[in-house]
Formats: sequence, structure tokens, C-alpha cells
Amino acid sequence: MKLFPYPAIRALARLRKSPGAGNRKSLMKIPWESFERRTIDHLRALVRLNTTNPPGNERLAADYLAAELGGAGIDPVIVEAAPTRANLIARIPGHDPTLAPLMLSSHTDVVPVEAARWSRDPFGGEIADGCVWGRGSIDMKSKCAMDLGLAVAIQRAGVTPRRGLIIAAVADEEAGSELGARWLVERRPELVRAGYVLNETGGFTLFMGERRFYPIQVAEKGFVTVKMTITAPPGHGSMPRVDTAIAWIADLIGRLTRNPMRRRVTPLMRRTLAELGIPPEKAPPLFRPMLANTVTPTIVRAGYKDNVIPGEAWAILDGRTLPGEDERGFMAELRDLVGPEPTLEVLKSAPPAESSADTELFRLIKTATEAADPGARAIPWMLPGATDSKFYAQLGAVCYGFAPVRLEARMPFGSLYHGNDERMPIEGMLWGLRLYAGVVLEFLGIRFDEVFG
Ligand SMILES: [Zn+2]
Repeated sequence: MKLFPYPAIRALARLRKSPGAGNRKSLMKIPWESFERRTIDHLRALVRLNTTNPPGNERLAADYLAAELGGAGIDPVIVEAAPTRANLIARIPGHDPTLAPLMLSSHTDVVPVEAARWSRDPFGGEIADGCVWGRGSIDMKSKCAMDLGLAVAIQRAGVTPRRGLIIAAVADEEAGSELGARWLVERRPELVRAGYVLNETGGFTLFMGERRFYPIQVAEKGFVTVKMTITAPPGHGSMPRVDTAIAWIADLIGRLTRNPMRRRVTPLMRRTLAELGIPPEKAPPLFRPMLANTVTPTIVRAGYKDNVIPGEAWAILDGRTLPGEDERGFMAELRDLVGPEPTLEVLKSAPPAESSADTELFRLIKTATEAADPGARAIPWMLPGATDSKFYAQLGAVCYGFAPVRLEARMPFGSLYHGNDERMPIEGMLWGLRLYAGVVLEFLGIRFDEVFG
């Protein structure tokens, strides 16, 4: 782990206005049941703010969070990487400056909806069938609501954590984080440098046969987006040939789809599969993307007139790299698969990230989760996709995906991410809220009953 620039953090802490006399009057514990209600209310309010990205307009969410935090005496910093693309960061300083801060992280943008295919208003925040409905209810305004509620509760209770607490609610995750986490890490690292980060994608029930697991994300793959171009002589559509750009790229796409990249079992996946009792060679298809770099053609373009053989065809390839791999190694592997002829151009890339599962925080998450659902096991996990964690990890943070929700076996949770009828089961979220609050408070050195009555 890297060293932390404590002077910078102390300087930021001073940005908070007068946490003293003015607030002391309002110091109070909050009854747990009202905390639950407040958190669900925050979630519904956030869902009603349309932060669909594009265009984003995360300022709506930042202003809501700032008002709630401000009401408790926490003054957040809001920085916009572009107009309306607001990132909010708030702090509660700790009393032990030798301990690295904990950052609770969320993104406030959401993916677009096909409203006609929804059973309810995607931006209504309605409660029905035991769920809060709406875009972002899972991904990830629920965690944003929990983070907000916890910061407010800690501040109102007037307790000082042993390590600093940072709340980050940022823009643009759903479009690659250019105006959110990535921008903050590159342009304003002093705002988001933390020792530990709790972010999305982990802590919900995974059913395997009769057994229940709670995957805790400790690693995520990197990405390399590549444009592959083929050029070949153009011609007349009435004169068929086998060596056209279209035929060639079709052949290459077939080759990429049929031939997976080299399989390798990283130490993390060896451990994950061992905890599940699955021999690596018998890993089911769910695990395939965690056991290799992958490449998936996602866009193909060629041709402009029905009777002209085009001289060029291109495809976009969505490449994903395992922890321990890099862009160069991936490109060499891709080149082996497609041969020397096509032009390969990297459009964008970001490295993979992996945090150790042998930390005090991971052990705390594991113990608390297993106690909250007796018989289940919490296990370290690799996400094939990408989250903001990969950027925060570049500043030296240990990053985990932990936004716990207890699910019924019949709940199609995974398919609701970015899906139609996205909804959060309230009972499962409140179970997760209790677990999450317990973990966060303990890691901050605060007793549960100091904050909640
Ligand atoms: Zn998300």
C-alpha cells in the first residue's frame, strides 16, 4: 500500500465548516427503524432524479446529497468535470491520523431505459410487491442512499471515527468514468485518496444448488477496446470473389468467437473455486470470463451500396484483461488469433485491479456477513466487468465490492442490472443495510449503539 498524504487530507478536513458549537445542539442517536425508513426515502428520492447517462446531469443527485449532508453539518465539495456532470465528495475526519481513511463510493448516473417495456414508471420510485422500483434502484442509488444515511447518522450522533470517512458520489460510471472517478483520480486525487474503498458489486446472495454464497468483489478485469480494420480490393457486386473485406472480417469474427483466449487460473480464482468446492477444470460457464482474457466483437461495419463490394470493413472488439495481464500481452494474444494482416488500433483501455483478501477489512466483512446469514459463506470474487474501483485502486486503495442485499432464490437479481423493471427488494436491502452499517461502524471504531438507538 502507498503512503497517504496526510497533510492534504487534513487540509481538506478543514474545509468542513464549524463542526463545533452550532451542531452540538442537534447531537442525537437515531432509532434504527427511522434510519431504515430514511434510507428507503433517500433511495426513492434519488431514483426520481433522472440522471440517465447520456447526458448524465448528475448535478441533480449531487444537490440532493449536498442538502441532506449540509442539514447534518457536513459540507461536501462538489466538482464538475463538465457542466452538470457533478462529483460530490464529503468527509468526516478521524481522530487517528495514522489510519488511512475509508471511502464509501457510489456513482449517481444510471443507464437509459426502454420505458415502454417497463411495468412501472422507471423514474417513479414507487413501492410495490415489496420492492422499490426504478432505474438505479440496484445500480447503484441504493448504496448511495446507504452511504448518505450513514454519514448523516454518524455526524448527528456526534461521534468521531478513529479513521477518516469519505463519501464519494460520482458521475459518469456508466459511460467509462471519464468525467467521474477517472477524472478525479487523474485531476483531483487529493479528494479521493483513501486507504480502503467500499464500492458496488458484491455482497448479494448467490445460490449454488442448496448452498448460499456472498461474493465479495476483490478484483476486476481491465479492458482494451480495439478497432480491427481489413482492407481489400473493392469491386462490382455482380462479380463475386472470395477475398473481399466483408468475407475476411466475417471469417475473423468467427475465428475470435470460436477460439477462446488462453485459459489461466489466477491465484484468486484458485481460491474462489476452492471455496466453492469446484475443481478449476470443471468450472461452469459462469466462470469462463474469470479464467481468461476475453475478446468479444460488438460492432461491425462495412459497405455503402448494394452493388459495390466495399474496400474496407471494420469491427470493434471489446477486450477484457485478467488481473496480472496488461494491454501489451492482450494485444499479442489477439494478434496471434487474427494473424498479421488486420490493422489493430487500441481505442481505449484501463488496467485490471486486484486487492488482497487478507486484510482486516475483508475479514470483518466475511465474519459479519456469515453471522448475518448463518450457513452462508462470504468468498472473494472477481468481476469480469469494470467499476470505479479500478481507478481508486490506482491511488493505492484496497477496494472491495460490498453493497449487501439478501435475495430470495427466485429473484432474478443479476438480470435486473441495466434491465427492464429494475427493482430493489426492501426486506433484502434492509438486511444489507444493517450488515453494511455494522461493518462500516466497526471499521471506523464506532459502536453501533453510539449512533443508533
Ligand atoms: Zn453501477
